[in-house]
Amino acid sequence: MSQEKKQSSKEILRHSTAHILAAAVLEMFPEAKFGIGPATEDGFYYDFDLPRTLIPEDLPLLEEKMRALINNNYPFEKREISASNAEEHFAKAKQPYKIELIKDIIAKNSLHQPTDKTQNLKITLYKTGNFVDLCSGPHLDSSGEINPNAFKLTKISGAYWKGDEKNKQMQRIYGVVFETEKELTKYLKAQEEAKERDHRKLGKELDLFHFSDLVGPGLPLFTPKGTIIIDELQKHIEDICRHYGFQKVKTPHLAKIDLFKISGHVDKFSDELFHVTSKKKHEFVLKPVQCPHQTQIYASQNRSYRDLPIRYMESEKQYRAEKSGEVGGLSRVYAITVEDGHSFCRIDQVKEEVRNMIKIIQDFYGSLGLWDKFRVSLSVRDYAHPEKYIGTKEDWDICENMLQEVSDEMNLNAQKREGEAALYGPKLDFMFRDAFGKEIQIPTVQVDFATPKRFNLIYINEKGKKENPVMVHRAILGSYERFLAMLIEQFAGAFPLWLAPIQVSILPVSEKFNDYAEKIRQEIFAADVRVEINNRGETLGKRISEAEKQKIPYMIVVGEKEMKENSVNIRQREKKEQQTMPLNEFIKKIKKEIKEKK
Ligand SMILES: [Zn+2]
Ligand SMILES: [Zn+2]
Repeated sequence: MSQEKKQSSKEILRHSTAHILAAAVLEMFPEAKFGIGPATEDGFYYDFDLPRTLIPEDLPLLEEKMRALINNNYPFEKREISASNAEEHFAKAKQPYKIELIKDIIAKNSLHQPTDKTQNLKITLYKTGNFVDLCSGPHLDSSGEINPNAFKLTKISGAYWKGDEKNKQMQRIYGVVFETEKELTKYLKAQEEAKERDHRKLGKELDLFHFSDLVGPGLPLFTPKGTIIIDELQKHIEDICRHYGFQKVKTPHLAKIDLFKISGHVDKFSDELFHVTSKKKHEFVLKPVQCPHQTQIYASQNRSYRDLPIRYMESEKQYRAEKSGEVGGLSRVYAITVEDGHSFCRIDQVKEEVRNMIKIIQDFYGSLGLWDKFRVSLSVRDYAHPEKYIGTKEDWDICENMLQEVSDEMNLNAQKREGEAALYGPKLDFMFRDAFGKEIQIPTVQVDFATPKRFNLIYINEKGKKENPVMVHRAILGSYERFLAMLIEQFAGAFPLWLAPIQVSILPVSEKFNDYAEKIRQEIFAADVRVEINNRGETLGKRISEAEKQKIPYMIVVGEKEMKENSVNIRQREKKEQQTMPLNEFIKKIKKEIKEKK
């Protein structure tokens, strides 16, 4: 442990602050037993075995103690002692976890060293105030280097010792630390905003989806409003894809396991497969992907080179048995609805197919104003190990070149990543920066030489010979569940007009105008606009603020003047000024805006 790992100054600050937290915990609980306390992305945590469960109110008390320790400016004193002395020290201090860690160090060391060298093994201890920790460092020189106003303890949670469920559960305290108070404030503000945008919170407030204990976790139920958004997205993406020659297909959610044995998914996803059996000796699995089913539609007829490309799309559920601990919100669920599409084509058609698919991605994300938020990567073979890939070298050369050419011609600026291709073919991945600045991969275009061979898909080429087509997979929005979560957070719930579950809310000034409100509701509804009347017995001001909270794009207020003129007074979401116009003019305007997906 003598070797100090290279660490950035930020990491050193974060980890050093973890020591100060531990020292503060020791003051509060002299009998505390200590686990480990590493730096994290924005801060640090430390795991403790304590005589009682921590409560949130403990955190400010610990922060106070930490501030006092910082103000005392204790040095981080380093001491190297023999392993046996170190064990003795921590035995006296009643620190079983530290003793276990020393034993691990000894065991690890003896693997690489002859036994006589193990005798000389040095263990590093660091002392800050009264707190002595087993640690290899590095640290700050003294606690006074920590800015007492630039750290915060953020969270308490449970954590198993060494991350193993069979071990004792300890209590983990998380914290963040920065060099300046300004950075801390900025971080905390961003966290607050993120919380406000959290799709689980907004999904409830906007009544978009629901989880029922009786149905089970990881199985979202979409309310009428959530369903409208999903249906609109599906209609939109299918319209675009139809434009590029995709035809819609429908396949069942189950299949014999043989289908997925041939496709290779049983090997790849065996732990994630849901098996379905019945007393009538049925044995099926729920589909983990859509592609194998679609190959069987291709295989249902003899195909000639003239028939290609053949393009299928579908939006269906697929199922993955995720670990129950990882399921949460819409981002990780058991049942996801995947918008999936494939092109079966000749190798000389791959380029055109890939270009079409990228145009689809461009059209779709452009209509949401998100196209400029992408970074593209081109994943190619590991040229040092060509043998591990499926498909001939010639086919790979051709397809990798085609992807590169498409990227160049379309100014995608794709970053080439060697060795990142799937075993069955190269691909283009689109990395999207989400509302919290985190990168997520959604759209992808993947060339696949393997699946058509596995399923023995063929077409008759110009020379009358049998040949395997190439399969190109494309995902545009991926799964509707994860996409909806991303959209909610991206727009903070204020969806573009064409996606908004309710597009217009009519607010009569008083009961007297209910009839007029109903008359215009019917006219707007007849124009295929999603409209409601809010005449629930509350003040106009309250109903306006309700519509604002629901992020409804248009509010129409109607009273005496509007009724006389057959007009409407409109207020647009996030805009101050109001506007009065004839009803038919408003209908014309909103229909145009919906159509243009403004
Ligand atoms: Zn340390
Ligand atoms: Zn596929």
